[in-house]
Amino acid sequence: MAPEEFAKFYPPLLGWIRATLTASTGAAETVASRGFWRLPLYFTEETLTSTKVVLVDPLPMPPLSSMGLARFADFERGNFEGVTYIDTFFLKPTQSKNENMHFHELVHVIQWRLLGPDRFLFSYANGLERFGYRQSPLEAMAYDAEAAFVGSTAIFNVERMVAGKLGL
Ligand SMILES: [Zn+2]
Repeated sequence: MAPEEFAKFYPPLLGWIRATLTASTGAAETVASRGFWRLPLYFTEETLTSTKVVLVDPLPMPPLSSMGLARFADFERGNFEGVTYIDTFFLKPTQSKNENMHFHELVHVIQWRLLGPDRFLFSYANGLERFGYRQSPLEAMAYDAEAAFVGSTAIFNVERMVAGKLGL
């Protein structure tokens, strides 16, 4: 995706994201309040108290086609279990006790924070376009970190790992 095209759809997309977050404020809980015991070993208390989770089905997906991004229609209609916008992630209620899923979405929260909304969305859109959902760099990073969390009790600093992989 050319930067010129991104510049056109970024304002309406960010507007949609902000409106979605505002509309969900009443249903949002902090991740800290969910009571998972492993997450505090990998994320700072600040991250767990500032990140919000909303349990909802269907998940709010941006109207990319009507924004002129028809080639992302598959993503828009994709059957996902969770999605993250800025400091809030949305999960299907069936995932409410799934700590691994919370871990995965928290990786995206760190990516959003470190990159900022403009660079996150530009990288995410480019990754989706070039590699597909699962192999897109920001998703691959989240899935790899999740696999490490699931496969071992070895503690690592997720924020440092994400910063390193982003080259920050
Ligand atoms: Zn993901």
